[in-house]
Amino acid sequence: MHQPPIPHVARTDPEIASLIEHEARREFEKIRLIPSENYVSVAVLEASGSVLTNKYSEGYPGRRYYEGQQFVDVIETMAVQRAQALFGVEHANVQPYSGSPANLAVYLAFAQPGDTIMGMSLPMGGHLTHGWPVSVTGKWFRSVQYGVRADTGRLDLDEVRDLARRERPKLIFCGGTAIPRTIDFPAFAEIAAEVGAVLVADIAHIAGLIAGGAHPSPAGHAGVITTTTHKTLRGPRGAMIMSTAEHAKALDKAVFPGLQGGPHDHTTAAIAVALHEAAQPGFRDYAHQVVANARALGGALTARGYDLVSGGTDNHLILVDLTRQGIGGKPAARALDRAGIELNYNTVPYDPRKPFDPSGIRLGTPAITTRGLGEEHMPAIAAWMDDAIAAAAKEDEAALDRIAHEVRDLMAAFPMAGWTTV
Ligand SMILES: *Cc1c(COP(=O)(O)O)cnc(C)c1O
Repeated sequence: MHQPPIPHVARTDPEIASLIEHEARREFEKIRLIPSENYVSVAVLEASGSVLTNKYSEGYPGRRYYEGQQFVDVIETMAVQRAQALFGVEHANVQPYSGSPANLAVYLAFAQPGDTIMGMSLPMGGHLTHGWPVSVTGKWFRSVQYGVRADTGRLDLDEVRDLARRERPKLIFCGGTAIPRTIDFPAFAEIAAEVGAVLVADIAHIAGLIAGGAHPSPAGHAGVITTTTHKTLRGPRGAMIMSTAEHAKALDKAVFPGLQGGPHDHTTAAIAVALHEAAQPGFRDYAHQVVANARALGGALTARGYDLVSGGTDNHLILVDLTRQGIGGKPAARALDRAGIELNYNTVPYDPRKPFDPSGIRLGTPAITTRGLGEEHMPAIAAWMDDAIAAAAKEDEAALDRIAHEVRDLMAAFPMAGWTTV
C-alpha cells in the first residue's frame, strides 16, 4: 500500500488511485538503476502533498505580491538557509520549477539571444539545456559544444580551454547527465576566468554526492551552481540556483519575474525537509555507499566482459557500450525491464548508431542504495543483467520472467519509503 495512504484518492478517483498503487508496487519490486531517480522519504512525500499547494507567493520572503505569507516566508527562508549551509554558498534560490527552467533562468540572467555559450554536447554526456540544438538554449544562443576524447571517454580540458579561448563564450556549463567521472571544477573555473565567462556548474546528477562529501564541491570555483533536488539529493521534483553574493540579484530577478510566476510552496517545503535530511550524518554514509556500490557494480560488469565508457566510474553512474555484446541499447533496456531491472538506453560518445537506437545503456546506484543494497549485492545484479542480455539475444522470455521473479524476491527484503506491504 502507498505510504502515506491515499484513501481519499481511492474514494474520489479509484482509477487514478489504483494506478498510483500499481506504480508504488512496481517501484518496490524492481531493481531501479536509472541514475537520475531515487526514493524520497515519507517526510518529503508528506510535505509535497500538503496544503501549501493552495498558496500563491509571487516574489521573495518579505517582498511578496500576495498577502498571507506568515508561514510560507519562514518555510522558504529556512529552505534557502539550509541550502546555503549544506553547499557552503552565499546565495540560494529554491524557486525554479525544475532543472531545465533553473538553467534557462541562468541564461536570462547573463546572456542575450545570439550570445555565445558553451556546454558539453548531449551525446557526449551533457544536458539538453547546455546548448543542444533542439533545446531553446541551442536555438536562441550561439552554442559551442565540447565532448570527451574518443580514446579515453574522458574530458580533455586542453580542448575545452582552446575552444573557450577561440569562441569567448559568456557562459560555460560543466556537468551533465552521463558523466561517470569526477568533474574538475577548479580547472573549469580557471578556463572561465581566463576568457571572462561565468562558470555554471550544473550538479543535478551529483548534488547528493557533493552534499555527502563523496564528490568535490563547485562552491568557491563556479560563480553559479544549478541543481535539481530530486536525483541523488533525494528531494522532491524541483531545483535550486546557488551562487556568490555578486550574482544573487541577477539570478533572483531572472527566476521571478523573468521566467516564472508563483513558486510551488509545497515543493519548497519538501526541499527544506530533504535538505535537513541531507545534513544528517547518515546522508554522508549514503553518498559514499552510492559510490562504493557503483564501483562494485562497474567492476562486476567489467569482469563479465562489459565495456564501460571511460573504463569505470568515480561517482554514481555507469555508461556501458554494448557493441561487444552485439545488442543495441534499446532492446537490451527493454529486456532488462521485463527482467525487473530498470535502466535507460543511452548514446555512448562517438556512437555510430542513431540516438533513438543507440549502442549503450546508462545505469546508477542512487535508488538501490537508498533501499539498503550494498556492495555484496552488486555481483548478483551484474549476473542478472548479463543473463537478461543473453536471453534478449535469444528472445528467451521465460528466462526474463525467471530473473524478474528472483529480483522480486531479493527486493522484498529491502523496505521502501512510500510503500508498505501490510
Ligand atoms: C536532470 C538534469 C537537468 C534537468 O532537470 P529537469 O528537472 O528534468 O528539467 C538539467 N541538467 C542536468 C545535468 C540534469 O541531469
